[in-house]
Amino acid sequence: MIVMLEPDSPQSVVAAVLQVASQYKGVTPRPHVMEGSEYTVTEVYLLGPTAQVPTEPFEQIPGVRQVVRVSQKYRVIGRHKGQKMATTGFEYNGVTFDERSVQLFAGLCAVDTRENVESMMAALERCGIRTTRMGAYKPRTNPYEFQGLGAACLPWVFESAGKHGIKVVAMEVTHPRHIDEIRDALERSGNATGVMLQVGTRNAQNFELLKQIGQQRDFPVLFKRGMGITLEESLNACEYIASEGNPKIVFCLRGVKTHLGDPHRNMVDFAHVPVVRRLTRMPVCVDPSHAIGRADAPPDGLPDIFHSIGQGLIAGASMVLVDFHPHPEAALCDGPQALRLEQLAALQRYTHIVREAYVAVVKNGDGSAPTEVAA
Ligand code: PEP
Ligand code: MN
Repeated sequence: MIVMLEPDSPQSVVAAVLQVASQYKGVTPRPHVMEGSEYTVTEVYLLGPTAQVPTEPFEQIPGVRQVVRVSQKYRVIGRHKGQKMATTGFEYNGVTFDERSVQLFAGLCAVDTRENVESMMAALERCGIRTTRMGAYKPRTNPYEFQGLGAACLPWVFESAGKHGIKVVAMEVTHPRHIDEIRDALERSGNATGVMLQVGTRNAQNFELLKQIGQQRDFPVLFKRGMGITLEESLNACEYIASEGNPKIVFCLRGVKTHLGDPHRNMVDFAHVPVVRRLTRMPVCVDPSHAIGRADAPPDGLPDIFHSIGQGLIAGASMVLVDFHPHPEAALCDGPQALRLEQLAALQRYTHIVREAYVAVVKNGDGSAPTEVAA
C-alpha cells in the first residue's frame, strides 16, 4: 500500500502517517521522497501484511492526497493503477530528467587521453549541450583489453567538464568503491560537474552493487537493461536500487544479445520504450551505439545509429546515450561504433526534429503537450 502526500507536504504529515501505521502489527512504513523537477512528493510505502489494513484512517489525515493498494512488484518505480498524480523524473545539477524533455549524452565510450576529452567537451559546448558520457571504469570481455584509466583520469575529466559547462557526466561504476572515488574526485574538483552513475548491462543483476548504488543519494542512476535477461528482470533490478532509497533512476535500453541482430551488434529493443513508460515512472533512455555497434550509413547518409535514435525518440524516449570520438580509428574501446565530432551538430538537429514530431502527435497524461527539447 502506498500513502501519497500532497506535493511539498511538511514533515508533520509524514509523522501523522507513521503514527497511524504503527497501529497495524507487522506493517513497516518506509517514506520515500521523490524530488521531481516541479515539486517534491513524499510517498510512504506500507510494507508487510497490508491486505487487512483499511485505507480510510490514512485518507483522513490532512495532507494525504491518495492511498493506493499496490498489486504489482515494482512498488517504488511502478506506475500504479489509480494513481492520480504519477510523478516522473527528477532534476539533478540543473538538468531535468523527465518525460517532458530530451537530454543528449554524447561522449567517449572510454576516456583515453586528455586531448580527446578536451576536444569532446569543447564540441559539446559549441553545440550548447550540457551532458556527456565518459567511461573511466570499463568492464571488458577480454582481460587483455584496455580496462579504462580508472580513478586516475577523474580529476582532469571533471576539470574539463567544468571548464566547458558540462553539468552531468554519465559514468559506469563496476564496484562500490568507484562511487567513493567519484565522490572524492568531484569534491576535490570543487564540484565542477555532476555524475550520473551508470550500471552496465553486465552488472544488471549484481544485486550487491545495485543495493550500494541505491543506498547513496548523491548521484542519480542510469540503469542499462541486462542484455540476456527479460525486461521484467531488469525492472526488478531497478526496484532493488529504488527500494534502498534512491528512486532517481533512468532506464536505458541498449539492445539484447542474439545473433538474429546481425550485422548489428545487438538486437535493437527500442519498441520497449512505451512498455517501460507504461509499467514504471522512470524516464527512458536509448543507447543506439551499443545496440547497433557500427557507424555505417545507408544511401540516405544517416548512420544506422541515427535511425535507431529516431525509433527511440518517436517512441517517447527522453534521453539518448551515444558514443563519439575525435579519432574513432584510434579509440581504445568501441571505435567502430563511435560517431565523429563533425556529426554532433547533425545529430542534435536530427534529435530536435524527431522529438518535435513526437510532441506534435502525443499529449501527456495530464493533457499538456510535452514541451522542452533540451538537446
Ligand atoms: C557503455 O555504455 O560503455 C557500456 C559498456 O554499455 P553496456 O553496459 O550497455 O554494454
Ligand atoms: Mn562501449
